Amino acid sequence: MKDANTVVPFEKLIEQLPEHYTLADKELVQRAYRIAEEAHRGQKRHSGEPYINHCVAVAGILADLRVPPEVVVAGLLHDAVEDTLLTLEDIRRDFGDTVANLVNGVTKLTKLPRVSRGDQHKETGDEGGNGSKPLEEPEHPKSRKQDLKSETLRKTFLAMGEDVRVVLIKLADRLHNMRTLHHAPEEKQRRIAKETLDIFAPLANRLGIWQIKWELEDLAFRYVNPEKYKEIANQLSEKRPDREAQIEVIKDALVKLLARNNIHAEISGRPKHIYSIYKKMMKKGKPFDLVRDVRAVRLIVPDIPSCYAALGVIHTHWRPIPGEFDDYIAAPKDNFYQSLHTAVIYDDKRPLEVQIRTPEMHMNAEYGIASHWRYKEDGRISDKAYEDRINWLRSMMEWRSEVYDAQEFVEGMKTDVFQDRVYVFTPRGDIIDLAAGSTPIDFAYHVHTDIGHRCRGARVNGKLVPLYQELKTGDQVEILTAKRGGPSRDWLNPNLGLVKTQRARSKIKAWFKKQEVEQNLAQGRATIERELQRLGITGMNFDNIARDLGYKTPDELFIALGTGDLSISRVIRRFAETEESTDVLVAGTQAKETVSTDTIEVVGLKGLLSQMAKCCNPMPGDQIVGYITRGRGATIHRQDCPNILRLKDKERLLQVDWGKLERTYPIPIKVKAYDRQGLMGDISTLLDSEGVNIADVSVNFNRTLADLNLIVEVKNLDQLSRILTRIENLPNVLEAHRVRPG
Ligand code: MN
Repeated sequence: MKDANTVVPFEKLIEQLPEHYTLADKELVQRAYRIAEEAHRGQKRHSGEPYINHCVAVAGILADLRVPPEVVVAGLLHDAVEDTLLTLEDIRRDFGDTVANLVNGVTKLTKLPRVSRGDQHKETGDEGGNGSKPLEEPEHPKSRKQDLKSETLRKTFLAMGEDVRVVLIKLADRLHNMRTLHHAPEEKQRRIAKETLDIFAPLANRLGIWQIKWELEDLAFRYVNPEKYKEIANQLSEKRPDREAQIEVIKDALVKLLARNNIHAEISGRPKHIYSIYKKMMKKGKPFDLVRDVRAVRLIVPDIPSCYAALGVIHTHWRPIPGEFDDYIAAPKDNFYQSLHTAVIYDDKRPLEVQIRTPEMHMNAEYGIASHWRYKEDGRISDKAYEDRINWLRSMMEWRSEVYDAQEFVEGMKTDVFQDRVYVFTPRGDIIDLAAGSTPIDFAYHVHTDIGHRCRGARVNGKLVPLYQELKTGDQVEILTAKRGGPSRDWLNPNLGLVKTQRARSKIKAWFKKQEVEQNLAQGRATIERELQRLGITGMNFDNIARDLGYKTPDELFIALGTGDLSISRVIRRFAETEESTDVLVAGTQAKETVSTDTIEVVGLKGLLSQMAKCCNPMPGDQIVGYITRGRGATIHRQDCPNILRLKDKERLLQVDWGKLERTYPIPIKVKAYDRQGLMGDISTLLDSEGVNIADVSVNFNRTLADLNLIVEVKNLDQLSRILTRIENLPNVLEAHRVRPG
């Protein structure tokens, strides 16, 4: 513990703690440090430093945001559960629920799902081969690593809706990791930097924490585009002394000008960040030389009227550059940022950028969502603003529960949450806030899912527009709907650009999924009902048969039938095995169960004519014996038949047995067909091949139509179903079905 390496950063942390922290707060932080230091002892960072330095640094970044003590404590312990023997329960016992929950939140974010080397992962079949697919997806092909990473990001966003403090710790963690990224293995650097630029910097921006946002951007940009980074950095530092001198002169001039107009202002030069210069160069298509000229100052004035007053003074003194004025006080940015922005032509005929804001707006701009705790210590009321931000974040996440694919989720965050917004109006004048590039369909889904589904056209500012038209801030949008019907598959085609937001996409997909389910369900139900009708079955117990076949509900069984996962013959076969099916088969048939030597295999009588003896009338199940008659084959008697018992000539007795007991049921069926030669022959051949006896046949002709009425002796429903299907498939046959008795 007296190791100089670890003590020094910690002492710095204690100095960094907000001055309003009580002695008890500071002791709590100290205790957390001791426990974390002991737990991580022996662990090293890539740099070779003790691991605890990272924890202290993360806590320090949080302390600078002036978060409450429990968040700093959680920052110190943020890697303890994941990387040391310390458990969550230890932390809960020592530091209470709040800290434990925060640490748990961060741990859950960090921990990747452990997929054992196996293949329970997605099938790989859809990955490589399909060359027709445009390669515009940012990360392609999707690797498992990619999926896991996306999953972590997805969790980060989900956590944002749950507890924003967890996300602050995660951002502080990422910031320190970025600051020390040069120690990381090279192949990791670019990936982490890119992820930072794609996700974490926008996340910080969304939370309004400018301080973290710009630093993450500049740190990441250096790895993502090292040449450009160096180029801009070099040019900036070359001109720095010159620029700083100029800014001093400008500040002086401004203070004097404003004082003459009774406006008190604090003025600071505004350092330009490398990544923001790069973005500006990209956006304006200008080389650095032109961007470099832009000098920027920031005025902080006491209140909102002073903001506009200062703007007026500046605009009268120097010529404003057209198109450079933005009033973010009247219309705050979507991350709640407020300021006046303008640019003027300064005395030296070169541009000067000016931002004007109040101290409150300034704090908000620098610390965003974290400014909540600063106001709190001031005793100022800002819980409303905090609530607004949290609610806004939640509404951004509204669709999140419908997206399970991590990659899709992250892409959705990139478009729906991190992109610029447009503000459009409903016909009633309500403002709707949408991702930039949104179309009328996105708008429709935003207003109401059902309006989205029924959207068929749109009027923007009173004019009919195509559905792919991008909406602009200020547009008034009216959706033309159909009474019924749903979305078009085309809407999901990214090449048509009809839908921009993930929210709308999810809802469209859900609609199709539901349709499919409903269609399959209806189709499956129709299939089974048609078959039951053909078999003359009423009132099958679907609950039983569904359970027998391993489905939870009859609906699941119908869906499986509809999708083709289950065949109707399998259902009937299964049903035929039940007792219920025998009742159904026998129900209403006048004929009783018949037993004859034709249908009963009597083992041991091969080739002999046989008949049941009239004297004892043996029934299946009885003990039997055969008696060889003179010239009439064999007769079958019960073994206890008095005639047999009395018999002297035992040599004529033959050992016989009931073979497989087979009952048949005489079932009347009707076959409708266009009459043709040989039809009846085909039917009897078919029945013969099934081993089904025809007990009776009659035919009625009605012009070319023939109605065949047969009584077939079938073993069970399954057989009945099969022969009906086979008969229906004979040429010229229109239908074959059972004749309902009665
Ligand atoms: Mn960490």
